[in-house]
Amino acid sequence: MKTTKKIMLPENEMPTQWYNIVADMKNKPLPMLNPATKQPLKPEEMEALFAKGAVEQEFSQERYIDIPEEVQTLYKIYRPTPLVRASGLEKALDTPAKIYFKNESVSPVGSHKLNSAIPQAYYNKIQGIKHITTETGAGQWGSALSIACQHFGLDLQVFMVKVSYDQKPYRKSVMNTYGAQVFASPSDQTEIGRRLRRKFPNTSGTLGMAISEAVEVAIKNPDTRYSLGSVLNHVILHQTIIGLEAEKQLEMTGDYPDVVIGCFGGGSNFSGIAFPFLRHNLTEGKTTRFVAAEPASCPKLTRGEFNYDFGDTEGFTPLIPMYTLGHDFEPADIHAGGLRYHGAGSIVSQLIKDNLIEAVDIKQLDSFAAGVLFAKVEGIIPAPESTHAISAAIQEALKAKEEGKEKVILFNLSGHGLIDMASYDKYLSGQLGNYEVPQELIDKNIAKLEKLV
Ligand SMILES: *Cc1c(COP(=O)(O)O)cnc(C)c1O
Repeated sequence: MKTTKKIMLPENEMPTQWYNIVADMKNKPLPMLNPATKQPLKPEEMEALFAKGAVEQEFSQERYIDIPEEVQTLYKIYRPTPLVRASGLEKALDTPAKIYFKNESVSPVGSHKLNSAIPQAYYNKIQGIKHITTETGAGQWGSALSIACQHFGLDLQVFMVKVSYDQKPYRKSVMNTYGAQVFASPSDQTEIGRRLRRKFPNTSGTLGMAISEAVEVAIKNPDTRYSLGSVLNHVILHQTIIGLEAEKQLEMTGDYPDVVIGCFGGGSNFSGIAFPFLRHNLTEGKTTRFVAAEPASCPKLTRGEFNYDFGDTEGFTPLIPMYTLGHDFEPADIHAGGLRYHGAGSIVSQLIKDNLIEAVDIKQLDSFAAGVLFAKVEGIIPAPESTHAISAAIQEALKAKEEGKEKVILFNLSGHGLIDMASYDKYLSGQLGNYEVPQELIDKNIAKLEKLV
C-alpha cells in the first residue's frame, strides 16, 4: 500500500466547536485565588483585565463551546492545517513506528498562536474594547495578536522580552507591519518596568516581567484589556481545534495514536493537540500516552512543585494552581524563547498530578539536533520550541525500534523557525550549550512561595 504523505481535511469539515476537557475531568482543577483574600477568584474580578467572553470560557464547565462564525471565517485563512506523515523522519530513524505531525506552522504568522489570538481579539471587539496589551516571549504570540487585532480594528501594545527583542529583530518588524507597537521589556513605559530596570540593570527580561508590564497598562486604563497567549483555560480551549482536526484526519488513515507529544511553554499547543485524544482515555478507556516536552533549562513539570503561584513576576495576576519553579525563577537565555516560562496552566498541572499525562525534559543541544534532522528529512525548519516535541518523538520512535513494536506517534509542529535562523546559526557554529538548572536555585525560588495546597 502506498504511504499517505499529507492528510487534508476539507474546509467544510473544520470543527465548529472547541472541546473543554474540564467537563470530563474527575478531579477538577483547583480554583484560581484572589491574592488579597486567598478566596476563589470570581469571574467579575477577572473582567477588569480580560474580555468578558474569555472570562466566561475561563470558568466554563460546558463540554463543547461554539466557535463564533467570524472566528471560523478567519480560521479558514489557514485551517484546517495539514496532518503529515513524517515518512522522511521514519526512514532516517529506521523505525517501525508511524510518525505523524500536525503542521501548525502554516498559519500566516508561522505558529499555532493565531488559534487563540483570533477569538481573543474577537471577544474584545464585540465588547467595545479599543486597546489591548500583551507580552510576548519569542514574538510568536505578539505577531499572532497583532494581525488578529488588525482584523478587528483594535490597537495593540506588545511588551517583548528583551532577550528575544535582541535575538529576533524580525519578529518586531512583523508586529510593526501588522500595526502593533512593540517595547523591549523591561521597558520605560510602565512603573514596574522602570523599577525592574533600576533593580536589575542587566536583566535580559522574562515572560513574567513582560506580563507584569502589560497587566499594569491594562489595569490603569478602563478601555484597555490584557490578553495572554498561553497558560489560561480559555487559551487552551481555543487550541483544541488542533487535536479535533487531527482526530478527524487520523480517522481517514485508520490509525489512532499510542502517544501524543507537544512541546511545553505554558501548555497551550500541547493541550491543544492532546486534550481531544485524552477525552477518549477519560471517557472510553483508551490508553494513549501524552508527553509534554519541556526544556531542561526551565523544568517546571519535571522538577517544579505543585502549589499556588503568580503568573507574572510582580504578583499582579491571580494565584494559579500550577507546577512552578517560582515566579522569580529567571531561566537561562535559551533560544526557545516561548518555553522560558516558570509555570504551567491549572488544567495541565492537575492532569500531571493525577498521572494522566507525562513530562520529559529535553536539553538544548538535543532539541536543535532533532530540529536539524527534521529540516533535512521533512524540509520544514521547525521553531526552536517545536524541536523539543520532535526530540521527544524521536525518543519514542527509537524506543519502538528497540522493542520491535509498531506504534503510532503523533506530535504537534507548533511553528516554523524561519524567523529564528540566528539561533540555528549559533547551533551550527557550535556556540550553543546545555543549561542544567542547579537544584539549589529551584529550591530557593520555591521556598519563597506560601504553601497553599
Ligand atoms: C509560544 C510557543 C510555544 C509555547 O507555548 P505553549 O503555550 O506551551 O504552546 C511553542 N511553540 C511555538 C512555536 C510557540 O510560538
